Parts: sequence; structure tokens; C-alpha cells
Amino acid sequence: QAKGSRSGIARYDACRDTFDVGKLALVGELRRAIESGELELHYQPKAELRTGRLCAVEALVRWRHPRRGVLPPDAFLPAAEQTGLIDPLTRWVLAAALAQITVWAGAFDDLTMAVNVSARNLARPDFADAVLAALSDAGIAPGRLTLEITETALLADPEVAADVLARLSATGVRVSIDDFGQGQTSLGYLSRLPLHELKIDRSFVTDLADNPAHAAIVRSVVDLGHNLGLQVVAEGVESRETVELLTATGCDIAQGFLLARPMPPGDLADWVAAHRT
Ligand code: C2E
Ligand code: CA
Ligand code: CA
Ligand code: CA
Repeated sequence: QAKGSRSGIARYDACRDTFDVGKLALVGELRRAIESGELELHYQPKAELRTGRLCAVEALVRWRHPRRGVLPPDAFLPAAEQTGLIDPLTRWVLAAALAQITVWAGAFDDLTMAVNVSARNLARPDFADAVLAALSDAGIAPGRLTLEITETALLADPEVAADVLARLSATGVRVSIDDFGQGQTSLGYLSRLPLHELKIDRSFVTDLADNPAHAAIVRSVVDLGHNLGLQVVAEGVESRETVELLTATGCDIAQGFLLARPMPPGDLADWVAAHRT
């Protein structure tokens, strides 16, 4: 019996090894990819529901892998988080997204840029310095940058996260709670953070028209956000019907495939030009 359990463990370890070797290779490649320019950003518009005005774009990272094609963030961000590579990765994303504002210029002068931040980034007290350095290197005013932060990311180290956000917010950087409604953050903790925006998780938004419970949640979150003085964004908007329901609840901003998919920067410039005429 002892022998059986030992071989059970051995089998388990063998599986783990295979997985770890694969992950190790990925991590090595990712380290190189960050330096050699294989990462790219696609941008998805956020628009005001009341006016249809484009107000922001969200930067979403992709990895143009030399053999495996374009990899979505889910394929490499978890490994980056586990190994600490997320720190140079986020620095790259910040620099690239802020530099893009200057490349676009013109039609983009009144847009804010949203960048996603990971748990591990926010748990580092020096993250605020990294963000401020990126803004000053790019010559972009802090008010043009929104950091999108999930509730889970706040919980990695709530004290450090609160300090980092307080420092950044004091300079004008905007803070958005991403995937709101999915996490376990207490409302007491959230109310102490210097927030500007709540993004309702897309799991409540996409089927809004057919799911009365989700419709009730969306209405409540819109009220909660407004009572806290925040802008409320609905992500995952895929139908006209959803837009109408969101507008009726007083939700401020919509983002989703109905308006536009995430696009490479050149396509986004064309899209903005077409959208504005
Ligand atoms: P997220 O921040 O919640 O971003 C929204 C995701 O939903 C994006 O997937 C986007 O393509 C997708 N999406 C947008 N509109 C719709 C819609 O109408 N319907 C549906 N079904 N999906 C929609 P993507 O680009 O694969 O990103 C997945 C997640 O990866 C992001 O979720 C974010 O958590 C993370 N991520 C992406 N880029 C970065 C980054 O630069 N840094 C960090 N730390 N995380 C990132
Ligand atoms: Ca986001
Ligand atoms: Ca989200
Ligand atoms: Ca998400």
C-alpha cells in the first residue's frame, strides 16, 4: 500500500515537472520578448453612453510569438505574475501606451489612456515611482492615465496598494476598479481608496437583457458608484439592447465588441477618424 502511494506521488511529480519545464521555457522566451519588441498593444475604445463621445482607450497586451502566432494575455500573464516578470512587462506596457498618445496626437488630445495593473505591481512600494517616471519620460500629464486595477490585485497587499494609489492619485493619475463585482474587497476598504471609476464586470453586463438578477446587480452598482462620486463603466457590451438598458440605468460609459474590438494602433486611428465624422 505504501508502495502504491509512493508511485502515486511519483506520477504526480512527473506531471508537475513537465508543466514546469514548459513554463520555464515560456518564461525565458517572455523575458527575451519584452526586450526584443515581440509584445504589442491593442487598443479598445470606451465611449460615453449619453453622447456617444469617445472618451478613453484601454491598452491590452498581446505577444506576437515567432512560432506560435499572436498569444492572448491569458496565455502568458499568469506565468509573468508568478515569476516577477510582470514588473518589466508592466513597465513596457506603460511606456508603450504613453508613447502612443504622442504618436496619435491630434484627434486623441482629449482621450485618457487606460492601462491594466497586476497584483504584484501594486504590492511594490516603488510602483508609484515607476508610473511617475513613465509619465515624465513620455511627457504626458498624469490626468491622461487611468490605472485599471482588479479587486483581487488590491488584496495582494491592501496597505501598500492604498499607499501607492494615494501617491499616484495626488498627482492626478486616475484609478479604476476593474471587474467590479467579481472580487471580495470590502466596501469599507474601497471607500477609503482614491477612486475615479468602477468597471462593472462583463459577466453581469453581456447577458443583461436576459438575466433579471444581473440587471438588478448592474442597477445597484451604477447607484453605488454614483453615490461614491465615481464614473461607472460597463464592459462586455455586445448588443444594442444592452446599450439601451445601460443608458436607462444612468451608466456613464460603455466598452465592448458592439462599439469596437481591441485594435492595433493604426486601425484605431482610422476608426477614430471614421467615428468622428
Ligand atoms: P480586462 O482588463 O477585463 O479586459 C477586457 C477583456 O475583455 C479583453 O480581453 C477584451 O478583449 C475583452 N472584451 C472587450 N470587449 C468585450 C466584449 O464585448 N465581449 C467579450 N466577450 N469580451 C470583450 P483580453 O485582451 O484577452 O485581456 C484579458 C485580460 O488580460 C484583461 O481583462 C486583463 O485582466 C488582462 N490584461 C490585458 N492586457 C494587460 C496588460 O497590459 N497588463 C496586465 N496586467 N493585464 C492585462
Ligand atoms: Ca481592464
Ligand atoms: Ca475588466
Ligand atoms: Ca477581466
